[in-house]
Amino acid sequence: MAIPTVLKPRMLVAATAAFALSACFGAPDVMKRSDAKRPGAKTVQRPQVTGAPSFTSTDAQQCAFDLKQAGVRFTPLPNQDHGGGCSSIDSVKLLDIGTPVTNLGPMTCPLARNFAAWAQYAVRPAARKYFGTEVVKIETYGTYSCRNIYGGRSGRLSQHAYSNAIDVAGFVLADGRRIMLDGGWKGDRPSQDFLRALHKSACRRFGTVLSPDYNAAHYNHFHLDMSGNGFCR
Ligand SMILES: [Zn+2]
Repeated sequence: MAIPTVLKPRMLVAATAAFALSACFGAPDVMKRSDAKRPGAKTVQRPQVTGAPSFTSTDAQQCAFDLKQAGVRFTPLPNQDHGGGCSSIDSVKLLDIGTPVTNLGPMTCPLARNFAAWAQYAVRPAARKYFGTEVVKIETYGTYSCRNIYGGRSGRLSQHAYSNAIDVAGFVLADGRRIMLDGGWKGDRPSQDFLRALHKSACRRFGTVLSPDYNAAHYNHFHLDMSGNGFCR
């Protein structure tokens, strides 16, 4: 299987380095990396003009290939500079990852690839393990949003501003139950175990994972993004 290999954190670092926008913005200070100072670091490139061709780099093409190999249906999006520093570079619109997902906007390909793998290899098996049923829908608060961290008026842009983050609100099971972060994180035992198993798995797959334990702003969702290198709270 190609997917588990490509999801190793070290390779993600390499992959995200090519996504020049992602590494040094929107992440807590503790995990900021200085790519410019690393030997062999790639030159940071500015967002391309609206409508520019996407998936021209080797890393981006590999990512699109990996998505296809995983059986994911998606539409590649043209590179977009949305203004205000916000962009969607080498991004996709996910059409089918095997489980319906609400509110999906543009996602950078590495984010889409890891999200699809998380749904397949973590979310669905965990639902079977803890609830004995299937997940029929993943509910999110969206992906792209041109805004600062925590929606503040000043400060760094959020990874959402680069289409490089997704906020997951909860999961609908085949029997109709809804296991939401708001309520479930401190809810009954199966809900707690299920959500913590998903959190643990997410921390192996995404660069930054913020849960309700991180701060009050995250009481109702997991924030998953591809910046940083294993910031897990
Ligand atoms: Zn978020």
